[in-house]
Amino acid sequence: MTTLETRAIFGHGGNSLEAARASMGVNRPASVRTLAELYRSDVVFEAPLDTAGGVALGGHQRLTVSRDGSYTFEGHFRATGFPSYDVALVTTLGFPIVIAGAPNGAAQFAFTARGRVSGTNEPGQRQYEWLEKGQLPQLQAEWHAVRTSRLSHKLHYDTDWFGPAGDIVGFVAQVVALGATFGASGVAIVVAGAAAEHFNVEHLVLPGIVGVIAAGGASYLFGPRIFIPVFIAGAAATAAAVKQRKLYDDEQIEMDKIFKGKVPYNRVLLTNLVGWGGRPFTAPGPGGAILVNLGSGYEKPLTYTGKGGEELNVRAPGQLLAHELTHAWQIANESFTPEYYCRAMDTAAGTAGGNMSAYIYGNAGGDWHSFNTEQQAKVVDDWYAGKQGGTSMQSTYDPMDEVLNPYYMYIRDHIRTGIG
Ligand SMILES: [Zn+2]
Repeated sequence: MTTLETRAIFGHGGNSLEAARASMGVNRPASVRTLAELYRSDVVFEAPLDTAGGVALGGHQRLTVSRDGSYTFEGHFRATGFPSYDVALVTTLGFPIVIAGAPNGAAQFAFTARGRVSGTNEPGQRQYEWLEKGQLPQLQAEWHAVRTSRLSHKLHYDTDWFGPAGDIVGFVAQVVALGATFGASGVAIVVAGAAAEHFNVEHLVLPGIVGVIAAGGASYLFGPRIFIPVFIAGAAATAAAVKQRKLYDDEQIEMDKIFKGKVPYNRVLLTNLVGWGGRPFTAPGPGGAILVNLGSGYEKPLTYTGKGGEELNVRAPGQLLAHELTHAWQIANESFTPEYYCRAMDTAAGTAGGNMSAYIYGNAGGDWHSFNTEQQAKVVDDWYAGKQGGTSMQSTYDPMDEVLNPYYMYIRDHIRTGIG
């Protein structure tokens, strides 16, 4: 058997046949042929569904995964006494993976089943059985890890935790909790079968504290009670493609010439995501993070001259970062409400077609609050760049001019005081 054939069978685990041998529990001496046959054979995970504390409910589950990524998830619940139960099960198949921005990543494939079993207190079926078949390309791609993965589950019989409208937040929290055995700081979740239909979600990646969901070809930033559609240069945002980082020291020093300590830089996470229309945006994220999504400006925001995409020389160097950090300032210094997400999305959607009116602000002298959030951010980024008027590319003043530029008053009286 050639190396190429070995690779074809063992995938990216093929560079370590010894690891494959160990993962399959095969003793030495092991022939490649034996290993190959075993490696390609189905993996079966089985577990009883036990309950504690005198709950008259039991069951069993079995998950069979094949080399081509197809799976069968089957089992039953059974009422064994007087009471009846509405049962909901979430089962995860988990293993460690590498996620950008997360030191210990874990993958969690989530499977669910739900049904009602009747006790002797009512007529009806004692037993509920399910059988779900499907195929997930990720199971095929991660085959080596799948073989050594771990089955976890949580059985609910007291509340219908799926919720009437499909509580994705509660569901995700449970899946993440089931993966806690990995000590994971980032979790990639693949939602299979019925659960994917129920929640209309197929693929979820939580690298660190940035959550990204992929469903139906689009991706969504996952924050408290909200999804925001996100993209990476027109492509779906996948685990490998999402980048995130803190500000570098030189970036923080440069931006602090504007904000003078009034942006909580330790909460700021830059990402390479963009929103509707390929536009950068800033939004509160889980865990107190402020997600500053810069698109193509992510790598070198101090020298980047674009508006989030590949087109350059349409902004001054660093102007986009100054703009988005002003939104971070707003989030930190104005009382936060979830409506901020809506404003961010509305504005982004409203400007997707090139209508820039949301950004055009009036003359200096008026009240800071006469500017909407976008106009405020534009006032600041124009002042940073020495420009004027919202859309002008002409430099009217020196960058960060504190003498002649009439808009400096807003920097002095609001930005640098933290008074929104
Ligand atoms: Zn903005």
